[in-house]
Amino acid sequence: MRVGVLDILTDTPLRGPISRTYAAYFRKQFTGIMPQVVSVWCRQLGHEVFYATYYGAEDPIEALPRDLDVVFISTYTQASTIAYALAKLYRRDGVLTVLGGPHAKSFPHDSLRFFDIVVSDCDKALIDDILSGRFDPPQIVTTGRPLTDFPLLQERLPEIRKSAFVNGRPIFMSVIPTLSSVGCPYRCDFCIDWNNDYVGLPDDQLEADLRWLAETFDDPLVAFHDPNFAVRFDRTMDVMERLPKAKRPRYIMESSLSILKDGRLSRLGDTNCLYAAPGIESWGDYSNKSGANGAFGQAKLDRVVDHFQRLGDHVPGMQANFLFGADADKGAEPAELTKAFVRRLPRVFPTINIPTPFGATPLHDRYVREGRLLKSLPFAFYHNPYLAIRLKHYDPVSYYDHLIDIHESFASWRMMARRLTTPSRGGVRFIHALRTFAARDDVAALRRIRGTMATDRTFRAFHEGETDRLPAFYREEATRRLGRYADLLSIDDLIPNWDHAGGETEDVAAE
Ligand code: SF4
Repeated sequence: MRVGVLDILTDTPLRGPISRTYAAYFRKQFTGIMPQVVSVWCRQLGHEVFYATYYGAEDPIEALPRDLDVVFISTYTQASTIAYALAKLYRRDGVLTVLGGPHAKSFPHDSLRFFDIVVSDCDKALIDDILSGRFDPPQIVTTGRPLTDFPLLQERLPEIRKSAFVNGRPIFMSVIPTLSSVGCPYRCDFCIDWNNDYVGLPDDQLEADLRWLAETFDDPLVAFHDPNFAVRFDRTMDVMERLPKAKRPRYIMESSLSILKDGRLSRLGDTNCLYAAPGIESWGDYSNKSGANGAFGQAKLDRVVDHFQRLGDHVPGMQANFLFGADADKGAEPAELTKAFVRRLPRVFPTINIPTPFGATPLHDRYVREGRLLKSLPFAFYHNPYLAIRLKHYDPVSYYDHLIDIHESFASWRMMARRLTTPSRGGVRFIHALRTFAARDDVAALRRIRGTMATDRTFRAFHEGETDRLPAFYREEATRRLGRYADLLSIDDLIPNWDHAGGETEDVAAE
């Protein structure tokens, strides 16, 4: 069979030189592992496979041939509308459409409006069953358990070449995605991994992958896609240290500060960790994973600043992940604490996340129970800078005022100058300069929403829960982002179907 695999990273075509540069170096590298794994499996099963990623640079329908038998599409919720539009086109051509990835897992029933088969968890046998026509569409299918049997990195080389390299060779910012574990022992209520138990992948496989990388490429850069890297810290480091020091690939990872204890930090440097992205989340909640047990507010700020300073002695690049608008947040204090963090640590790049009700999470279920979900808001707006819920302690206008205040603090030219003059290595200053430009775009987007909130009574009424009628602002924005695909989706297509609120799936065991 002719099988297409498309990993959709965005729904927005690139515009302007800054966004093109940012996307070419940065966004392009956020490819998923599972689409590559599915591509490998399909090849191993004897099919002719076409794999591509879409990050906004070209027309997504041109990424794959049209005369396919089956297309597997993977996407995040924020890019799901372009996936829905493409599914309509492929269906018209008689192609079997299959959706996987985070959106399929969070909102399988909504996805089934457009796709023949929606996959939650899968393995090679389940993919074989799909290709063998064992499932009658429309159907949600899952193995019911997280995958732990992944192909070797070497087997994914054709997909890595296509997604991350230029002319078949890695460039300065080429990132090779890999995994050392799946799941997480923490239970953060907003996270789609909240109920996936932590499982370390076999040590021998990690070692084989790292050795192959070291032997095949000069100075490769690896991104560990583990939800929470090195939960088995010493064991993971032991495996990485089996390689001679000069051969250890540079790597990027996301890990809880609670795992990165003082006595462990030097091993991150020894194993060539280039960039770490721990989550601080809210100043009033989630303190267990940020290593600040029992500390909140100013006390938490002091602890995490000290922790990041010590981490920075061993890891050149750092990002801190914040969640602003959790139910524990109220008043100006969270914004003031975040700004203080930014001032004290110019070499740490902050990301400020807005609480987003991804399906199949306790947070989503709570928002539904409490009637705080903006049910008419299309999934295309399930990401920053958009607000898909009503917050507990902020009206929407004051919330956006705080968000703008925070973003201006780290997107300012003054902060840019501090970043550029802070000693660093490994291209971190270049990345943070690019990210500062992108953050300035975010400020403009936040201001636009805040301005509409203040001047358009119906827009504000929607965000205050007084009406479910989707404001023109969102209809127009969705249409603009879909571009030539906008005509394929009606307004009813864009508005989520909540008949099966939640992320429940009908388990279908693979044989
Ligand atoms: S620690 Fe990170 S990966 Fe684990 S549940 Fe919390 S947010 Fe998710």
